[in-house]
Amino acid sequence: MKKIMILPGDGIGPEIVNETVKILDFISRGHDISYEFDDVGGIAIDKYGIPLKDETLEKCKNSNAVLLGAVGGPKWDTTVPGKPRPEDALLKLRKHLGLFANLRPVKIYKSLMSSSTLKEEVLNGVDILVIRELTGGIYFGERKRQSDEKGEYAYDTEKYYKYEIERIARLGFKTAGIRSKKLTSVDKANILESSRLWRETVNMVHKDYKDIELNHMYVDNASMQLIRNPGQFDVILTSNMFGDILSDETAMISGSIGLLPSASLREDSFGMYEPIHGSAPDIQGQGKANPVAQILSLAMLLRYSFALTYQADIIEKAVNAVLEKGFRTADIYNNGGKKKLVSTSEMGNLILNEIKIFM
Ligand code: NAD
Repeated sequence: MKKIMILPGDGIGPEIVNETVKILDFISRGHDISYEFDDVGGIAIDKYGIPLKDETLEKCKNSNAVLLGAVGGPKWDTTVPGKPRPEDALLKLRKHLGLFANLRPVKIYKSLMSSSTLKEEVLNGVDILVIRELTGGIYFGERKRQSDEKGEYAYDTEKYYKYEIERIARLGFKTAGIRSKKLTSVDKANILESSRLWRETVNMVHKDYKDIELNHMYVDNASMQLIRNPGQFDVILTSNMFGDILSDETAMISGSIGLLPSASLREDSFGMYEPIHGSAPDIQGQGKANPVAQILSLAMLLRYSFALTYQADIIEKAVNAVLEKGFRTADIYNNGGKKKLVSTSEMGNLILNEIKIFM
């Protein structure tokens, strides 16, 4: 029996998770999959005073995958030190579940090309997966604020152990192997020692994955190339901070935040899957939320944690078919005319209907 822990969270989280569970119920028939819900984020603060209970974390640890909605909202916004914040739950989950790799795929839907700020001829065929190291580097290195005779100063440290680079590189090459066998490793090896170790280690791991085409690119060049010619990339492998920035840049190429899923993985098949967007409190409870990012997060879960490739492919095909037919939630309804505006649950039902046709 495979277990999924579902954490809908705050804002639009429960609305888009609801649509996704309809699809999970249908697509998992005949497979031994069970799921359970629990609270995370602001709702958990309201109920228990903390954003993630130890029992919830334990249940996540005892499952095979976690499907998360989104957390946060103005009600819980605080800068008061020591006051619980919904986002603390995400950091705790990533840390305690050992999720060191973040995967963000960005595919350009033909029918939505006009939503992007880039020209259609540049976007044709774009299908990129950014793999970002998630638990090392400058976000976790030593930092301090001090003063000396010249005045106040501050520093942050980029530190990577070889084993941290090696494990993410392996995951990168393996993932490239189930895509188009092309990996671009992004660093700043012309300046940073940590990047030189990054590059050496990626080259070392490459010896075990000779069928994958590897190239290295400096991060400044990568950020330009993503806008100039994004079609040249397939898998991009990079460090925590570079990945943070480049994955947002890549996401914007698609033109809509409501369409993009993500996965956070470790070495075994366990993973946590969530949309890249937040809890969108401005549209909560209005039927305006786009459930696609959440539904595609389920597709990633089936692909990476349960090896149910056929089911994952069908979900992705169904999303594409619904968009091709012109159905749009409010966030992507920007070219009027022949397009049909639908609510969150209508979008969920349309995707489910397509899945039923394909299966
Ligand atoms: P956001 O991603 O929630 O929203 C940004 C804009 O995009 C809003 O206008 C929103 O309506 C729209 N949007 C986002 N997802 C959408 C969807 N599925 N369908 C239609 N429109 C969508 O970012 P924000 O407004 O900066 O943050 C809101 C809250 O979410 C904050 O409390 C923030 O801390 C939290 N947040 C949580 C996560 C997470 O849970 N992983 C990530 C980012 C932000």
